[in-house]
Amino acid sequence: MTMEMREDMVRRLVVVSNRLPVVLSSSDGNWRSEPGSGGLVTALAPVLRNRGGLWIGWPGTAVEDGVQEALERAVDGAGYSLVAVPLETGEVDRYYRGFSNEIIWPLFHDLQTRCNFDPEYWDTYGNVNRKFADVTAAHTGDGDFIWVHDYHLMLMAQNLRELGSRAKLGFFLHIPFPSLDIFVKLPWRHQLLRALLAYDLVGFQTMRDRRNFIQCLRTLLNGTETRGRGQVCEISADDMSVRAGVFPIGIDYRQLERDAGSHEVAESAWHIHENLPDRQIILGVDRMDYTKGIPERLKAFGRLLERHPEHRRKITLVQVVVPSRRGIPEYEVLKAEIEQLVGQINGQFTESSAWVPIHYIYGSLNHLDLLGYYRASEIALLTPYKDGMNLVAKEYCACSLEENCVLILSEFAGAVAEMQRGAILVNPHDVAGVAEALHEAIVMPPAERHRRMHLLRLVVKKHDVFWWVDSFLRASIEKDLGNFPIIPDYVPPAPQPR
Ligand code: UDP
Repeated sequence: MTMEMREDMVRRLVVVSNRLPVVLSSSDGNWRSEPGSGGLVTALAPVLRNRGGLWIGWPGTAVEDGVQEALERAVDGAGYSLVAVPLETGEVDRYYRGFSNEIIWPLFHDLQTRCNFDPEYWDTYGNVNRKFADVTAAHTGDGDFIWVHDYHLMLMAQNLRELGSRAKLGFFLHIPFPSLDIFVKLPWRHQLLRALLAYDLVGFQTMRDRRNFIQCLRTLLNGTETRGRGQVCEISADDMSVRAGVFPIGIDYRQLERDAGSHEVAESAWHIHENLPDRQIILGVDRMDYTKGIPERLKAFGRLLERHPEHRRKITLVQVVVPSRRGIPEYEVLKAEIEQLVGQINGQFTESSAWVPIHYIYGSLNHLDLLGYYRASEIALLTPYKDGMNLVAKEYCACSLEENCVLILSEFAGAVAEMQRGAILVNPHDVAGVAEALHEAIVMPPAERHRRMHLLRLVVKKHDVFWWVDSFLRASIEKDLGNFPIIPDYVPPAPQPR
């Protein structure tokens, strides 16, 4: 173990994210808590437990009497503590629904026409970031490592420095970082970039995202790369210097593989297939979001049935759409569009009650049911227009215990950089191309499926979520930037006849 690694291990870890890793609900004035789900909690809870630490965030409810005590009870004995950042309803509206989800989310996914650049959103975003910084400063010291997560809190380091904090500050962006041409549309582009420079380390999912970030720094703030060319480099701009690294987030591979092999999941997969006998199941799993490319995907499936009638009755598309950001008009419009397409395709192709081409599930599956679908499906079809990573792609491969499945993945998912050698890659805007990729997957011989899925599973296993935490923490203190490998970029290949 190097000196640097020891320094990394002794610092207390403080995680800051928009939401805390527990979900609180109240009835009759009594607070109940449930553990939050998702990769971030899975990855960071054991690290915090081992090292002792703190998790700071909004509890998802107005902070009232009893909330802090409920949070303490929720992690009693876990070895770390939770601290709530109180937010008022109007603040949540403008900082979370407004700035984060009506500006940064669409802009960073290259959908600038969907942005609502309301100046009040920016003001509240600044105020809320300052609130997070105030709470964080009050609970931390200069010896801590403060790791801030995601696009809701990009200004926090600057606020913390203004408050005199000298702690090490890291930031990880879970979503993509856009190219210069798109980033410059942001009215507060200089302020935002300068604020990111206040971190010691900024982490991205892919080389593509970091390249975009560096190009913005070069052009807008005269930035120059001073050290390192691999996974971690150093950039100077505006009299400041920041490390920028590439850390593709992973999953808890071993746990998922174990769960997928359980009796319950095997049973559930068997039932799913028994209800769809002699068919290949094609699976889509997405949050309801306009970045996921669901309408184009449905059109591609319809085109496949039209162009390749030999597959009718032999395939079923199971499309799971998890409700998200409910009540927002744009999301309601998308839901209606998806449901209309499902109805249209089913109306056109259903031949008898024995075969309905699309099974549409609007709802959240529990963990074991989701794994059941992963295991039961011969093909996963994941076609986001753009995605920070796409964990579903990695989870699907981890659950493919027999390695007889095919992953069809968008060229614009962050996961493509690591998964390009095993997946069939598609441009989600190319409806005809996606239909042909589906055909290729359906007729792919078992040996080729096995070869590809084996490659995919190796990389997902190697770059798991614990590797991700470890690389990020190490990158903040490692002296020799050459110690980090290069994560290859994805470059679209020249067209080949299918
Ligand atoms: N997921 C879930 N319940 C479901 C379907 C999906 O909890 O019914 C989870 C899934 O296991 C994955 C996450 O939702 O971990 C989706 O992550 P991803 O990176 O694919 O997309 P995001 O929703 O973060 O944009």
